Amino acid sequence: MAGLLDGKALAQQIQADLAQQVQSFQAQGHRAPGLAVLMVGDNPASAAYVRGKERACAKVGIASLGQHFPADATQEQVAAAIHSLNQDDRVDGILVQLPLPEHLDAVALLNLIDPDKDADGLHPTNMGRLMRGEIGLRSCTPAGVMQILKTYNLEPKGRQAVVLGRSILVGKPMALMLLEADATVTIAHSRTPDIGTIARSADILVAAVGRPNFVTPDMVKPGAIVIDVGINRIDNPDGTTRLVGDVQFDAVESIAEWITPVPGGVGAMTVAMLLQNTVWSYSQRFAR
Ligand code: NAP
Repeated sequence: MAGLLDGKALAQQIQADLAQQVQSFQAQGHRAPGLAVLMVGDNPASAAYVRGKERACAKVGIASLGQHFPADATQEQVAAAIHSLNQDDRVDGILVQLPLPEHLDAVALLNLIDPDKDADGLHPTNMGRLMRGEIGLRSCTPAGVMQILKTYNLEPKGRQAVVLGRSILVGKPMALMLLEADATVTIAHSRTPDIGTIARSADILVAAVGRPNFVTPDMVKPGAIVIDVGINRIDNPDGTTRLVGDVQFDAVESIAEWITPVPGGVGAMTVAMLLQNTVWSYSQRFAR
């Protein structure tokens, strides 16, 4: 049976460490760090994510300085809010909760965020820093995966890594981070023929596809490290719903050496990395 990579416990540990760091900065007379989450509209899933982020901020001692706009907010209104947060000295991190209503241009708005306050690590400047191997704010979900591997001493160096999915949010930055850590990386996607053979070559298999049960046991090399980024809501026979990943967990668990559960794996780490990015950005402000 594979060992469980417990993202939830690790996230709690990281949050406790961050709370201590914040306390020690404040003991030196500094203000609290600030994170501004901008939400537009009333998408219930987004609202739940925003509440979760604000609760996590409170535990660490980060001030939540977000704003909630009505669903018909204009591009100019949201842009003006980002410009003002860029100038606001109490704010160390800014993020725009996605998805946005269709009439808004999400990419244009993300590009307005000061790259040094880009808590989600999605700004082209931070993507460029990742590409060049320079210090910078890293995208939270793949950074969470790297933190899990590091904590469990699962060194990517010299290993074959396969990333299933090539989104700008997960797949691409994930592949770059594994490459930066000296893995040999393959990215597979919806146009990749014979994806099973490629997946089976992986010592580290990262699934970020968004399809329940996509990774079946025949796609997994015995002894592989399997990281399940997927978060999919599916229906139970009794009419309730539950969250599952992209990996057929019960079957793959007996083949892999290590595996992340869903929930309690990568998802738990994403918010911890957001807080870590905010506190890092805060600490850099005082180092300047
Ligand atoms: P996305 O933008 O929809 O990208 C999905 C990727 O999977 C695309 O590159 C797509 O290929 C590929 N794909 C889709 N169907 C495929 C197939 N049949 N065979 C091979 N490749 C296929 O999704 P995302 O934002 O990257 O998210 C992926 C999953 O991770 C989702 O379940 C999402 O909810 C979850 N997620 C979790 C966290 C977390 O905190 N754990 C954070 C973000 C996302 P093409 O590019 O060719 O279309």
